[in-house]
Amino acid sequence: MTVIVFGSINVDVNVRSRVLPRPGETVHGESYAIGLGGKGANQAVAAAKLGAKTRFVGRVGADAFGGFAIEALERFGVPTADIAVDPGAMTGIATIGVDAEGRNSITVVGGANMSFTEADGDAVGRSLGAGDVLLLQLEIPVPAILAAAAAGRARGARIVLDPAPAPGAGVAASLVAAADILTPNELETAALVGLEPTDEASAAEAGKRLIALGAKVAIVKLGARGCMVVGEDESVFIPAFKVATIDTVAAGDCFNGGLAAALSFGAGLARAGRFAAATAALSTTKIGAADAAPSLAEVEALTETPRIPMHVGNR
Ligand code: ADP
Repeated sequence: MTVIVFGSINVDVNVRSRVLPRPGETVHGESYAIGLGGKGANQAVAAAKLGAKTRFVGRVGADAFGGFAIEALERFGVPTADIAVDPGAMTGIATIGVDAEGRNSITVVGGANMSFTEADGDAVGRSLGAGDVLLLQLEIPVPAILAAAAAGRARGARIVLDPAPAPGAGVAASLVAAADILTPNELETAALVGLEPTDEASAAEAGKRLIALGAKVAIVKLGARGCMVVGEDESVFIPAFKVATIDTVAAGDCFNGGLAAALSFGAGLARAGRFAAATAALSTTKIGAADAAPSLAEVEALTETPRIPMHVGNR
């Protein structure tokens, strides 16, 4: 089974300064770093690093950042045959300012990510086979996402949707119903069902509401507390793994990459959720987004479980 990620590619420009500039102000910064980002790219890297057979459908502009992103994906082992270069658009970027207290201020320019159409989504969905895992986020246009989900589902693929960044109320219902597995964090859950989960009980209630809206399974992510997996018949709470956390950037992305990888290896839902939680926890022990994704050996060591059987011969 293949993990197909259809989503965004950004180049993250991270700048550190003692204070963030106010409108009209120029400040001296201390350092900067440029790295691969975008939720689609991060999740594709996480799945590929875990050894899942991964395809990534994305788009960059015909500019230097586009070349940088493609090279970075290749370095992380993500096949780039399905990355298109759009001559009429700029590569997506995120400029991320961080001050001495760790507070940030971020501007994202979607660029080439925003040129995907409903027809593009339909073509992605049609390319899937039964049992494939289609991994979606909300950094490309919603019509493309809904078309990919519908065509993929019709071919027997499983649709995993990370509703991030939080969707507007106008499209929330159609997105929830398009997902076999929906993976919102606290704020996204609040945007979707009007209830911000703070503990196991409220996460279970929010998950039930998401299922009532049409999701088959809801995995409500609760940051350092863990996550609540809510299915039609049963629910299971997965506490977060205790690790030496230094940076939670992209924990959610590694969670989804890990979840999709485990499902593609043939794991059941509870086991895949645990594998995802371990992938996410390990990512918080390293700085960065794609750079922080762990290896299969690291995840297996943390979960202390034998290899998921489907993995053999799966690459
Ligand atoms: P997002 O990044 O989408 O906001 P969360 O912050 O809820 O997502 O984190 C996703 C998952 O990552 C959590 O459900 C948990 O399993 C894991 N996680 C997050 N923070 C930590 C942490 N400090 N220690 C261990 N695991 C964590």
